[in-house]
Amino acid sequence: MSLIVAALRDLFVPPRCAGCDAPGSWLCIACRDGCEPVQVRAGNLVVRAAGSHAGPLRDAIHRLKYRDERGIATELGGLVAERMAADLAVGAVLDAVVPAALHPARAVARGYDQARLLADAVAERTGLPVIPALRRVRPGTPQVRLDRAAREANLRGAFVPVTRHALRGLRVALIDDVTTTGATLRAAAAATRAAGARSVTGYVVAVDE
Ligand SMILES: [Zn+2]
Repeated sequence: MSLIVAALRDLFVPPRCAGCDAPGSWLCIACRDGCEPVQVRAGNLVVRAAGSHAGPLRDAIHRLKYRDERGIATELGGLVAERMAADLAVGAVLDAVVPAALHPARAVARGYDQARLLADAVAERTGLPVIPALRRVRPGTPQVRLDRAAREANLRGAFVPVTRHALRGLRVALIDDVTTTGATLRAAAAATRAAGARSVTGYVVAVDE
């Protein structure tokens, strides 16, 4: 679908809940309230999520990634922002949000980078700046087809900092849509630290457990 057609559709087709198909929003209040926040560890990286990759969240992420419904990013980014706000309220300090960027070729094929859309939505809700400091240099074999060890190998060195000191001294919230083994986020976190970040915390919409 062309960008213009997709943008027009987002304007004229009223949103429906990804979980229960209720009209009015991309994710209704009942389906939002059904999400239980999750936290996992991927090596030395803590990853916090709005919920598990199941039910309405899984459906919403699928629609965002594969059905060109980019309006969903606002809703899902809002969920991530709520998760983050809860952490900020109890003393966490974050300076910037950084998207775990898609490979440019894949972003062009899809028409957008969902990690960037989510990061923009999170930034809008939290007031933190978005710093697109990472570039994905290898698209990799689609992760779905690989086991855990192969995913790690597939992703090692997959991200590079855009500039060397882009994140110097910053406490970074690294944003992605979903994490399974944490391999993508760990590769992105390594590049975030290489760009000078003082600390990195992963924030995703959903954890696939
Ligand atoms: Zn719903």
